[in-house]
Amino acid sequence: MLADAHGAIQANAAIERYAGIEGRNLIKSVLKDYPGRVALLSSFGAESSVLLHMASEVDPHVPVIFLDTLKLFPETIAYRDKLVSELGLTNLLIAKPDEADLAQFDPQGDLHGSNTDFCCYVRKTVPMDEVLKDFDVIISGRKRFHGSARSDLQFVNLQDGKLKIEPLAGFSALDLQTYMQQHHLPSHPLKLAGYRSIGCVPCTAVGGNDEDPRAGRWQGTNKTECGIHFSANGQVIRTVTRQAALT
Ligand code: SF4
Repeated sequence: MLADAHGAIQANAAIERYAGIEGRNLIKSVLKDYPGRVALLSSFGAESSVLLHMASEVDPHVPVIFLDTLKLFPETIAYRDKLVSELGLTNLLIAKPDEADLAQFDPQGDLHGSNTDFCCYVRKTVPMDEVLKDFDVIISGRKRFHGSARSDLQFVNLQDGKLKIEPLAGFSALDLQTYMQQHHLPSHPLKLAGYRSIGCVPCTAVGGNDEDPRAGRWQGTNKTECGIHFSANGQVIRTVTRQAALT
């Protein structure tokens, strides 16, 4: 782990080192600089194929972490297997909720109906924290155009002592669509049915558009994030901004 002040210094050094780099080139640089310490997070959702394709071109053996909350659409599992096969990814790591936690806190599987934050904590945050213990650098596929807490997403952040890399932060919906077409990447089956952002079955509805792709998530509530992209104190940790790193 990149601990505290030392970690912050390393994060700021990484921001300077990677200034002006994004997409595939950022993935390539990070994998070269942190051999054996990098994992990529993927939900295998509506836009996941772009980041996965870039990573597969750089190194198909990169660890890809998939969080199976046991509440996902079967179409997502099928899409995961299809992409892994077509892209030749060799190191899929599947994180799942702890069985004892489920038995204690969600024995009926309906916790999402009364407390979505705690449900996400049990089914997402805890298993994710466990699998991430083995890595110092995490590549994620979030984009600024998704809005809300992601609007000012930086390419490099420090989060809970780990470097969080966002190669697609500056990509637009059109950029993603163009990339998928150019590389003949398959779409998530539910995207064709009108879902723009795809998570767990109970908390995902048809909907969303280019301005608010995540509108179908946790509809009718104020919740916009599941928690795995936040630090332990609930805050998104940022060091200096990319702009500042350029001046
Ligand atoms: S998205 Fe919904 S079902 Fe999935 S873990 Fe969060 S609250 Fe539970």
